[in-house]
Amino acid sequence: MLGSMMNTPLNIADILKFAAEIHPSGEIVSVRTEGDIQRTTYRETLARVSQLAHGLKGQGVNIGDRIATLAWNGYRHFELYYAISGIGAVCHTINPRLSAEQMTYIVTHAEDTMLFVDTTFVPIVAALRDHWPKGLKVVVMTDRAHMPEGDYLCYEDLLDGHPTTFDWPHLDENTASGLCYTSGTTGNPKGTLYTHRSTVLHAMMEAVGLPDVLKPGRKVLPVVPLFHVNAWGLPYAAPLTGASLIFPGGALDGESLFKLMDSEQVYSAWGVPTVWLGLQGEIRKQGRMPAGLGDMVVGGSAAPASLIRFFEEGGVNVCHAWGMTEMSPIGTTGNLPTHLGDLSLDEKLKLKAKQGRRTCLVELKILGEDGQRLPHDGISEGELFVRGPAITAGYYKNDEANKDAFDAEGWFGTGDIAKIDADGFLSITDRAKDLIKSGGEWISSIDLENVVMAHPKVANCAVIALPHPKWDERPFLVVVPAGDDRPEVPELMALLSEHFAKWQLPDDVAFVDELPLTATGKVSKLTLRRQFADHKLPDA
Ligand code: AMP
Repeated sequence: MLGSMMNTPLNIADILKFAAEIHPSGEIVSVRTEGDIQRTTYRETLARVSQLAHGLKGQGVNIGDRIATLAWNGYRHFELYYAISGIGAVCHTINPRLSAEQMTYIVTHAEDTMLFVDTTFVPIVAALRDHWPKGLKVVVMTDRAHMPEGDYLCYEDLLDGHPTTFDWPHLDENTASGLCYTSGTTGNPKGTLYTHRSTVLHAMMEAVGLPDVLKPGRKVLPVVPLFHVNAWGLPYAAPLTGASLIFPGGALDGESLFKLMDSEQVYSAWGVPTVWLGLQGEIRKQGRMPAGLGDMVVGGSAAPASLIRFFEEGGVNVCHAWGMTEMSPIGTTGNLPTHLGDLSLDEKLKLKAKQGRRTCLVELKILGEDGQRLPHDGISEGELFVRGPAITAGYYKNDEANKDAFDAEGWFGTGDIAKIDADGFLSITDRAKDLIKSGGEWISSIDLENVVMAHPKVANCAVIALPHPKWDERPFLVVVPAGDDRPEVPELMALLSEHFAKWQLPDDVAFVDELPLTATGKVSKLTLRRQFADHKLPDA
């Protein structure tokens, strides 16, 4: 028997409408590309978002159109999140750190019709525009006074003169709202297409999981970019709960972050370990924590135990989180349950080095090599599978990638190797996917290998991740030369530079006579990683 309750759809615009009415003075503070700091409220933001929605309609944007952004964290990017999805179009955030090749693939694959770009990234657009779909309209996210030369529209012109209210449509809650590409192990990036329903539910799941951070009066700093899985859901969870957002723009070094956190009295800061290592350096220099800092969320890569200890000893609660683009992204959060509150600091830190416990509505299971479920005993290790309403049901227009992304029961395979203990704490112990994560950004080892293999003096090669104190992991290339005449390292780097961004190139190269193989004849990366475990990278 079906129940008889209203089936009103979950719509993203309702989050901002709620915030404007119930948390009207919740703030958005942004470091602008123009160089100053801009302050606004959720109430004022809804008015500008309404103007922008009119502006988008005026440009002919329709339901389902993909509208791209190439931008830092700031209020205009936030406005785009709501205006684009609010009118039923899809907010497609592009990571500006990707190589030209990857960016072109993404813009073409998504068939973007409009692109909003921060002034910082205008040179990227100028260099690549000829390779992008003709007719792509480019809007520079600034005012008339700061517009660059060229065939660009001006963001503030799009808003100017339009009404500050908008009749937001009631969209089917399964309407696509956002699109974010993540690295594939081979070939091209893969898109996760979020829905209004998944986004609203994720915001609520996050709010339920972090009640001390997401509430009125709290100031939250997403260092994690709006182009990385929706800044981990904060643009939705913060307004929903009345927490204020402090956006750092493009200044993400330790000194700039310290200054901003200190002057704005940020309570909770969110980002990848590399960012916090930078801040740690500045804290040491200043001999104190930024004023008001009480909490931080660290994820994207494993948080080093020493980093967690440093902040915990400084009186900051460290919440180690794990998730994925495909999960909207939060899967687990690492605040300790109250019944473990009496542990000694050392015992607490041991638990906090794990990746936390599942968020509500996220289910986790570990499968052994035979596909059987393994017990949550803190010992059994296998591939981690997940299920839930904010988890992808299939990559966007990508049958190939979807073929082996799910198990027979429809759970999504994360490619992470993990164990779960009896209290529900997840430990990520390894990665089955052949990818390297450097400073929170992906590098495909297989893509690097494919390019190196094209060199006539290379018989075989493999790229593995080696640990790095600042970037967490860096790529290391191992080459078997085709004959006595070895390829020169600069030659290999020049070849790779044609396809990859500079930061994606291997830090070092070793030449060997042969590569270790597995029983099935594939290169054994495990053996290779062990073989080079003591290898020191040049700047590590
Ligand atoms: P992304 O889609 O870029 O967010 O990357 C998701 C992947 O990053 C996961 O599948 C993990 O491999 C890795 N990851 C994310 N958070 C953590 C963490 N706290 N510890 C270890 N690995 C992590």
